[in-house]
Amino acid sequence: MDLVSTPESSAPRRRARVVVVGAGPAGLTVANILRAASVDCVVLETESREFIEQRPRAGFIEEWAVRALQQRGLADRLLEGAQTQGECEFRWAGERHRFAYGELSGHRHFVYPQPLLVTDLVRAYADRAGGDIRFGVRDVELHGIDTDRPSVSYTDPRTGERIRIDCDAIAGCDGARGVTRTYLGYLGTERATVARHDYGIGWLALLAEAPPSSDCVVFGLHPRGFAAHMARSPQVTRYYLECPPGDDPENWSHERVWAELHARLTVAGAPPLTEGRLIEKRVLDMHNYVVEPMSHGRLYLAGDAAHLAAPIAAKGMNLALHDALLLGDALVAYCGEGEGEGAVEGEGDDSALTGYSEACLPRVWQYQEFSQWLSELLHGPSSGDPFKAGTAAARLRRILGSPAAAAAFAELYIGKGADN
Ligand code: FAD
Repeated sequence: MDLVSTPESSAPRRRARVVVVGAGPAGLTVANILRAASVDCVVLETESREFIEQRPRAGFIEEWAVRALQQRGLADRLLEGAQTQGECEFRWAGERHRFAYGELSGHRHFVYPQPLLVTDLVRAYADRAGGDIRFGVRDVELHGIDTDRPSVSYTDPRTGERIRIDCDAIAGCDGARGVTRTYLGYLGTERATVARHDYGIGWLALLAEAPPSSDCVVFGLHPRGFAAHMARSPQVTRYYLECPPGDDPENWSHERVWAELHARLTVAGAPPLTEGRLIEKRVLDMHNYVVEPMSHGRLYLAGDAAHLAAPIAAKGMNLALHDALLLGDALVAYCGEGEGEGAVEGEGDDSALTGYSEACLPRVWQYQEFSQWLSELLHGPSSGDPFKAGTAAARLRRILGSPAAAAAFAELYIGKGADN
């Protein structure tokens, strides 16, 4: 990255082709793609490296996403270590119903905790490829996104100095609580609309230091509330319990959590739940949103910055990877491969960047629709509304009884053919 003169300000100004805001799965994937093509980029992240490499969240990656990471040399450890799963189980009205979506779709999930993926992507970008990443930055601001020369400024955590980076494009990958989205959707401008859906439901998200109690994802449909079981590793299991939105996690003692999990997930013939210490306990108010279009001027949003999918169908990280793969390639086409001798720092082909939002949104909406559909199925029995309970039961019977409905469900659940 070059230093350039700073005529109008004493703040140090620097230049890079692309500034990536946020080092989650989306930002790190974009950065790795740029780095592999020798496009000069800087990643800005508010948290520390240790923090992002340990932040627990997702765990199920769809096969198409794994293959795309593999093609770019970003999935070595994932492919070595991840277990694959192609079945889920619905527990409903005291019975178990296995559903073999892997057989039906030909695709499987890879069980790989998000912190491991983030660790792999940071190593590939920063340690192996020598990419520029700045942790702990504060007060990130964007400037001139409507112009050909936008910039990003931030406060350096060590010196307190304000730094400004001029660039050609900004990748807004700073998640649901970041700042980049506000430059598109929340300024009362007509740059973008934000479509939002609130489920009116809370989920108590739990991580237990306990081995999985089933060889697959378990969805417990129960009048007391929905519950779920998902493997994370041989030692750690994620559980969810439906609860009132805004509930205080402190209302959920160890004893209450396990009593409720047993009550909602136990059916005849199922292996008993293995209990363990709860190492994460937080309440998620389930909601989704989509920012449309996902770009404006030289700012391109990817991942949770652009759209949130409550973890009902395990779609968020997969969508973040989908955006990032498209955005990384589009930025490479625009910036041109390579730097240094022979490289032309000019404008390349911007057609993929122009079409970026349009290319992402079909899958975004397919996943949103599927999450909403699945939510109605999973929460119907506990809704207290006999009509919702009846339609939820009809949905479940349909996917368990109709081969055509089962095949359609399997493809959506694993994200196959969702780009239309
Ligand atoms: P993030 O991972 O949120 O990364 C954004 C980064 O930007 C963060 O590192 C943040 O610190 C940083 N940042 C924030 N603000 C700024 C700023 N102003 N400047 C610079 N950096 C900033 N998805 C699935 O696909 N499968 C699952 O099984 C699944 N389970 C989940 C379980 C839970 C409990 C939760 C909460 C989510 C789950 N998800 C799941 C969703 C998934 O975790 C997210 O969709 C995914 O993290 C999105 O990646 P991202 O890179 O867009 O955003």
